[in-house]
Amino acid sequence: MTNKSAMQVTVALGERSYDIHIASGLLSRAGELTKPILKQPRVYIVTDENVAKIHLETLKAGLAKEGISAFVEVLPPGESTKCYANLESTIDALMAQGADRNDVVIALGGGVIGDLTGLVAGLLKRGMRFVQVPTTLLAQVDSSVGGKTAINSKMGKNLIGLFNQPEMVIADQDVLQTLPVRELRAGLAEVIKYGLIDDVEFFEFIEQNAEKLNAADPEILSEAVRVSCEAKARIVSEDETERGKRALLNLGHTFAHALERANGFGPALLHGEAVGTGMAMAFRYSQALGLCSGQEAVRAEKAIFALGLETDVRKLSGGPYEGDALLEHMMHDKKTEQGNLTLILAKGIGQSYIEKQVDADSLRAFLKIETAD
Ligand code: ADP
Ligand code: ZN
Repeated sequence: MTNKSAMQVTVALGERSYDIHIASGLLSRAGELTKPILKQPRVYIVTDENVAKIHLETLKAGLAKEGISAFVEVLPPGESTKCYANLESTIDALMAQGADRNDVVIALGGGVIGDLTGLVAGLLKRGMRFVQVPTTLLAQVDSSVGGKTAINSKMGKNLIGLFNQPEMVIADQDVLQTLPVRELRAGLAEVIKYGLIDDVEFFEFIEQNAEKLNAADPEILSEAVRVSCEAKARIVSEDETERGKRALLNLGHTFAHALERANGFGPALLHGEAVGTGMAMAFRYSQALGLCSGQEAVRAEKAIFALGLETDVRKLSGGPYEGDALLEHMMHDKKTEQGNLTLILAKGIGQSYIEKQVDADSLRAFLKIETAD
């Protein structure tokens, strides 16, 4: 076990490299961490109402210790916050306070706040710098690392965005203690994903510690965050703009997006919950194709289930989940290239690969079985 008080992971991207700080008590140290990159003792914070209530004062106090003042923009919580209207109002609010290219904006929140704020930062006066302070597990292990920023359009999720890397990521482990349990489990789906992609050892760690992870045990959870961030950092360093290997991070995601779409992106199914089911589907489909043994597929499924996630489409909340509709959604997913559906499949646990020639007929048959009463 790594020393819990000081973990640091570097995302190596040449001049744009940055560190992910992972530890307890980091909000209180935000001033000390950010001071070296500030040109004046002032930052802009974008957050949501829920997070503001619980964690904003700690962050502001941490900044104030180093004499840094903050202007705060608070947005409503929820996916619908990632819209044009909030992009505009947030940019306007920051500019009205004098924000310019030399300034730093801090995203304090989950993926919603991180995605929107990263885009705001990329656009405001052609780019100000930003710091990610992710407060959900999902944001700590996934969305805050790697520089994908976006808002949603009526044409679909995350369609308006930029690759824009932060200056630093501050992943305070204490904030995870206030996370609603569904959000915790949704984040655990993205955690186990790294094991399933290419790290059997990490998969086994998760298997052995499922109960503790579910109870947000601080030590086990920060170890899981560290390994996940290392995996993400490594993949992003190798393939920043997803031309190749980064696509492995989409394990379970094409299935998941189809489920989310079938549920109308409603609150009955969180993204991470859909990813949990989607990864189980990817393993079952890999088994159906004879790529992966039944034993491995069942083991993957059990481990996902042990994290409190549903693996059976028929028992999944929300919906309706119907085979042909799911296929339709999958064919329309943005990863479809020239009519060929690309899926991340697996030859076993820790042996995922990019399959660019998925056969629609076999997938249709599989989805029919998955959704049959
Ligand atoms: P994600 O990171 O999964 O994309 P969101 O940004 O939508 O998720 O955050 C999920 C929900 O959890 C939101 O309602 C948000 O306000 C709330 N939230 C975020 N971080 C915390 C936290 N540390 N404690 C409690 N609630 C939080
Ligand atoms: Zn995801």
